[in-house]
Amino acid sequence: MDANTTKDASSTASTKPIKQNPEEKTIRYADRPEIYPRNIKGIYRNVKWITLWVLLGIYHIVPWLRWDRGEGVPDQMILMDLSGRRAYFFDMVIWPQEVYYLTGILILAAIGLFFVTSLFGRVWCGFTCPQTVWTDLFFWVERQIEGESNARRKLDKGPWTAAKIFKKGLKHFIWLIVAFLMSFAWVWYFNDAPTVTVEILQGTAGSWVMATIAVLTITTYLLAGWAREQVCYYMCPWPRFQGTMFDEDTLLITYEDWRGEPRAPTNKLRNFENRGHCIDCTMCVQVCPTGVDIRLGQQMQCIGCGLCIDACDGIMEKMNLPKGLIRYDSISNGLAREHKKPETFHLVRPRTMAYVVILLVVMGAMGFSLGTRSLLDVTVLRDRAPLFVTLSDGSIRNGYTYKILNKDDSARTYTLSLKGLEGASMTVIGVEKEGAKQVMLDVVPDTVGTYKVFVKADKKNLKGKSTGIEFILVDNVSNETIVHDTVFAGPGR
Ligand code: SF4
Ligand code: SF4
Repeated sequence: MDANTTKDASSTASTKPIKQNPEEKTIRYADRPEIYPRNIKGIYRNVKWITLWVLLGIYHIVPWLRWDRGEGVPDQMILMDLSGRRAYFFDMVIWPQEVYYLTGILILAAIGLFFVTSLFGRVWCGFTCPQTVWTDLFFWVERQIEGESNARRKLDKGPWTAAKIFKKGLKHFIWLIVAFLMSFAWVWYFNDAPTVTVEILQGTAGSWVMATIAVLTITTYLLAGWAREQVCYYMCPWPRFQGTMFDEDTLLITYEDWRGEPRAPTNKLRNFENRGHCIDCTMCVQVCPTGVDIRLGQQMQCIGCGLCIDACDGIMEKMNLPKGLIRYDSISNGLAREHKKPETFHLVRPRTMAYVVILLVVMGAMGFSLGTRSLLDVTVLRDRAPLFVTLSDGSIRNGYTYKILNKDDSARTYTLSLKGLEGASMTVIGVEKEGAKQVMLDVVPDTVGTYKVFVKADKKNLKGKSTGIEFILVDNVSNETIVHDTVFAGPGR
């Protein structure tokens, strides 16, 4: 559009106000149609159940697994110890200064998800996403209490009888218990699981533990019980951009319209000549947990759970037609079948290879970093106020806060020395020797030893207002050495 066109359009808009028909209603927000998905049996339903129980099992069992790290160190295999400011993964202990390892794990998880999505479509959404798992569980509870989809619909539309109040009350009560159990398990990852369980049961757990469980119980109950598919529709950003990972070889839930259309209800003779195989029974829509009609094509709301495949395969079997009218397949294979060409599935594609390369690079970088990880680290903070002090003998003194991170599980003694400033000496508060060239510093296991270090030097030896110096720390056992550059401030010449 050029500038003139823009001007014309805007002037037209300003001189000709849009007349609104008073009868016409503007619908901005559509009501949420209640979805009563039918239960269905089949391969995908079974895979979903198996995935659900395996994931819930892992989620609840992992915090109870122990890992011997020696005395005085938590023995939980995976623990995010917020109060102790450590994360424990098997033998690995991550300090707050090493939070980049957690970032690396998150990057690996994200790239892994992109990779899996480019190969198998929305398997994460359909089978493993916590929202999917918990919603499935909540649907199961609802079905046990309120019955199949028609019974649930009838119950919702019917009057509030005692039976309805009982069923609804029981359902919400069990939903809350399930939500509570899910939330309970979450705090195990941040506390010693057996200890915090006893504390919670005795009512002596810390307030933040109780608050976490309360908040998670309510959010799980609301999201899995009430919001359900609305989370995927409106709250989750993933469906909005995961389509960018798809290509014609990505496995997706597809309806073969070339085979199914024109659809029509079946007749007694079950004659499928000059018509499609879809009998328009809507079973695929009725079982869909998000209310999608997959026959309309790919939709953001489709979570790729495959239940419509189970439903349609059952119908095809009854009709003595080949299964797979709705199938888990790639677009290129669908086209190949349509045109009677050989089907192929391309695992190795530029897109998937790009993800593999990124995964390998990140894994390699993390592996190298972990393999060469030091058990010793140092932080030096120079005093800013005052920058320096002139002593009575005319010499200049600077103060430093020297922190030694002993990440080992045994106590260590280190030798601290100074380089770069002729005649300089150190005094470490709490360490008896004063004015020394070298000082021995002890740090107990798995802690940060903090020392106040004063460095004194003759004014004549300074190279100006700022003289570069080096603190050299040597581990007396392993000889590991850390050299830390800093400056010594003075009045200048
Ligand atoms: S379940 Fe199969 S036959 Fe029935 S409406 Fe869906 S696509 Fe058509
Ligand atoms: S359309 Fe099929 S695969 Fe997609 S969400 Fe519905 S049932 Fe699951």
